[in-house]
Amino acid sequence: MSKSKFIFVTGGVSSSLGKGIISASLAKLLQARGLSVTIQKFDPYINVDPGTLNPYEHGECYVTDDGAETDLDLGHYERFLNVKTSQSNNVTTGRVYQTVIEKERKGEFLGKTVQVIPHITNEIKRRIRLLEEKSSYDIIITEIGGTVGDIESLPYIESVRQLRWELGKNNSLVIHLTLVPYLSAAKELKTKPTQHSVKTLMESGINADILVCRTEHEISDDIKNKLALFCNVEVDSVIQSIDASTIYEVPLMMKSEKLDLVVLRKLNLKSSKIADLEKWSNFVEKLKHPKHKIKIGLVGKYVELQDSYKSILESLVHAGSENETEVEVISIHSEHIDDNQINNHISKLDGILVAPGFGSRGIEGKIKAIKCAREKNIPFFGICLGMQMAVIEFSRNVLGLEEANSTEMDENTPHPVISLMENQKNITDKGGTMRLGSWECQIESNTKLDKIYQSKIIFERHRHRWELNNNYSGEFNKNGLKTSGINPKTGLVEIIELVSNDWFIGVQFHPEYKSTVESPHPLFVSFVKGCLDYNKFKN
Ligand code: GLN
Repeated sequence: MSKSKFIFVTGGVSSSLGKGIISASLAKLLQARGLSVTIQKFDPYINVDPGTLNPYEHGECYVTDDGAETDLDLGHYERFLNVKTSQSNNVTTGRVYQTVIEKERKGEFLGKTVQVIPHITNEIKRRIRLLEEKSSYDIIITEIGGTVGDIESLPYIESVRQLRWELGKNNSLVIHLTLVPYLSAAKELKTKPTQHSVKTLMESGINADILVCRTEHEISDDIKNKLALFCNVEVDSVIQSIDASTIYEVPLMMKSEKLDLVVLRKLNLKSSKIADLEKWSNFVEKLKHPKHKIKIGLVGKYVELQDSYKSILESLVHAGSENETEVEVISIHSEHIDDNQINNHISKLDGILVAPGFGSRGIEGKIKAIKCAREKNIPFFGICLGMQMAVIEFSRNVLGLEEANSTEMDENTPHPVISLMENQKNITDKGGTMRLGSWECQIESNTKLDKIYQSKIIFERHRHRWELNNNYSGEFNKNGLKTSGINPKTGLVEIIELVSNDWFIGVQFHPEYKSTVESPHPLFVSFVKGCLDYNKFKN
């Protein structure tokens, strides 16, 4: 008898319908009823993890405490649930095959032909159930990436079919997320794509138990009845998911659609508590009715795709709600920054955030934006590469080391103020070899950071190879660029702050991975506050 109950979430009709948000919203509702819930995501691509993917391909790479480079949906899970995820929460086809092939090489299947069924499906099933062994969750939600009907999703769908059989009645259910499009010429919502998608799922032996239907218009009872009849689900299991102004409204919408009640009934689970979303509702209220407004420039080279900086954008939303402030984020392409843009645009902003990144494209633009922030005392927040660029800007324009650079950009720079650690020098593999995951950092007393964190020891997540070169830290500190956070074991500099400015901070880590609705990250909260103060002072 299984300890945990399983919910599988599949998608149909179209990609980008928001399976991650629906899964996270349902998990939130169940958690608010006192159940312990976790979510995992299976991605059907061959990369072992998304760490080697360009953000244009797949959006941001999210990093967990244990150093896993994962799909950005894990960010939603953590932000909604306020619980940590790990490598076990994200598995790709590449990782599944890698495990099976390694076993084959060791001779573990000696004499046998290794096949998709049963070897790949067994490995998928083992990984789905891994979380059940790790901790006693009441419910494990498994999101299957891709769209039903994709060739590459088939082994996952087959694994779900087998697992449902193995788990037995009332121990699992399938939620199918589809799109109910509106044809404006006919002024009608159309159910046929959903019917086809449910049928495709049935061809693989799976009946959807619940339909969650994305829609731009209210779904009438007539349409719900029609969907129920033709898709073989109960009428109350057709759940409308109408477009929301913010993703944080979705748990509230799912509560009023009674998704949690239907799920509990179908899983034969009792919960006397009703979902308490009071805190959550307060957060959404503040978000939707801000008292103030600021404009922050997000300087990066992947700005064309919103998902590239997902966690940063969400952290600003959390910090905005906390400060009762609408944060308008202006995307600034670092490759296009010139003096004209600095004078007419960037210098008028209430804050500048320079984003993480890799490689030399667009870095001179980032340096220009940082110079502007430093000289005009505009609140500046540099994250990872953004911090490294702030160090280079300071070295060039304050210390007069004109050719200062990172060895990532210029191997032969005479002033390698950002350089590679010894243990990184001989690494040739690109996947999973950066400084990754949670690292300790000690905060210096009487610094801006000390006030912000109100804690001497912090843990933050990293994803980078290069580091501030400690040969220069004496010079930096002497001239007002304070190294205010240090890794106690390695002595590596994790945080810098400019003493002369009101809010000028660079961090080598990624605070955005740890901001959640319930615990907005102190650095983002303080940055938004700093921008708000600057805005008031400016006007
Ligand atoms: N490219 C830089 C490094 O690897 C910064 C990485 C980042 O911004 N995440 O050190």
